[in-house]
Amino acid sequence: MQMTGPDRTAPEPAPPLAPRIAASLARVARGNLCAGCGACAAIAPGRITMATSAEGFLRPVQTVELSAAEDAQVARVCPGLGQEVRPEARRDDVLWGPHVSVETGWATDPALRFAGSSGGALSALLVHLLAAGRVDAVVQTAAAPDFSIGNATVISLDAAMISAAAGSRYAPSAPLADLAWHRAEGRRLAFVGKPCDAAALRALCAEDAGWAAAFPVILSFFCAGVPSHRGGRAVLAALGADPQEVTAFRYRGNGWPGRATAVLRDGSTRSMSYHESWGGILSKHVQHRCKICADGTGTAADIVCADAWESDAQGYPLFDEAEGVSLIVARSALGAELIAEARTAGRIETAPFDLAHLAAIQPGQRERRRALLARLLALRLAGRPVPRYGGLHLVAAARQNPLARNLRNFAGMLRRVLRGRL
Ligand SMILES: Cc1cc2nc3c(=O)[nH]c(=O)nc-3n(C[C@H](O)[C@H](O)[C@H](O)COP(=O)(O)OP(=O)(O)OC[C@H]3O[C@@H](n4cnc5c(N)ncnc54)[C@H](O)[C@@H]3O)c2cc1C
Ligand code: SF4
Ligand code: SF4
Repeated sequence: MQMTGPDRTAPEPAPPLAPRIAASLARVARGNLCAGCGACAAIAPGRITMATSAEGFLRPVQTVELSAAEDAQVARVCPGLGQEVRPEARRDDVLWGPHVSVETGWATDPALRFAGSSGGALSALLVHLLAAGRVDAVVQTAAAPDFSIGNATVISLDAAMISAAAGSRYAPSAPLADLAWHRAEGRRLAFVGKPCDAAALRALCAEDAGWAAAFPVILSFFCAGVPSHRGGRAVLAALGADPQEVTAFRYRGNGWPGRATAVLRDGSTRSMSYHESWGGILSKHVQHRCKICADGTGTAADIVCADAWESDAQGYPLFDEAEGVSLIVARSALGAELIAEARTAGRIETAPFDLAHLAAIQPGQRERRRALLARLLALRLAGRPVPRYGGLHLVAAARQNPLARNLRNFAGMLRRVLRGRL
């Protein structure tokens, strides 16, 4: 007899068993501590992948059980779980961390200066690294080809590719996720990422000479936090731009600070100022981990760039359109050497900068650092896991805040936890 349907007498195939989630990742999830860097996927390639969560953030998905050694390595490297900073012989600052030099500067190539978020200094340094043969390629983040508000990790091989990736993308990025594959290709790669990305890569390099040889230079930028894709969609909605009609989207750059700009299928553009896009919309969609970030200034990188905003009479930053100027911080001797080389090669110009001025023009970074201890204490009191921070001067930073402001931050975070709003 020929069977025409499923054999009802045969046992049902067992559904695939869900893997036991690694203890490190379970702790991250319990505290909503993921920064979305992708380092865990680099540690367990093919067994952890990064996927977009319902909230619109990049989060790890573990599909196969990890070994105890892999779990332990994720626990050591994951920036969601903690970060250790050692100043060693460098000057250290309570708010701004260890540094070798602090200057302002910009790309001498006017097109690159215009394309960059601030002065295009970071991109000009990358162009120099390639031209000088310091690295073979650059791992960086650019607009995703098929998702205008999203990001993709790209490998840039020349100045044109670096210029195309210039400008800040205020959306999730996981530039470490595919790093194990890139490492296996045997090239020397410069890496650009958020401070948490840089911290995770530095931790991998410290454990394994192979990682350190593959990634001889790490660059980063000051980071106020990563907004979800919901944030990017909210900007499009405020611009009245149908996401299906948007063919390209810039969060910034093309001027300083540059406007958030959507290009529509018919060639028309819609845009809004940086103050409206970041201040009015995107900053309200930032992930929880960023609100308790002790290192928004890239202490693990060799070089960090930021906005060297002009300030008003009260010292507060001005967001008027101007020729871009980047803050350039060398965090290592190598970083200082590369900056000097790029200057001698005529790729960047620099000017002196007084570090004492930085707290005034970076109020977001300043206030978060000062509020951090109070927020962490509130989370601890509520029984929530928090990142373990070493060498980041939490107590000294909190002392710079009046007691009333610390109490307000403590109460605010406790309220968020009790209302289930983490
Ligand atoms: C999420 C986010 C928050 C920021 N917060 C602050 C802040 O609080 N204060 C401040 O001064 N500056 C902040 N910046 C950095 C600032 O916008 C500029 O990047 C910085 O001034 C350097 O400018 P530049 O012209 O020298 O860099 P550019 O020449 O424009 O180079 C920018 C580099 O950043 C990389 N990049 C862009 N977006 C991402 C991303 N999402 N993930 C990983 N890499 C990316 C690009 O690939 C490029 O290599 C933030 C940037 C981002 C992406
Ligand atoms: S912070 Fe990075 S390493 Fe940690 S869980 Fe998230 S993606 Fe993985
Ligand atoms: S604020 Fe801190 S945790 Fe958040 S993306 Fe930036 S560096 Fe990472």
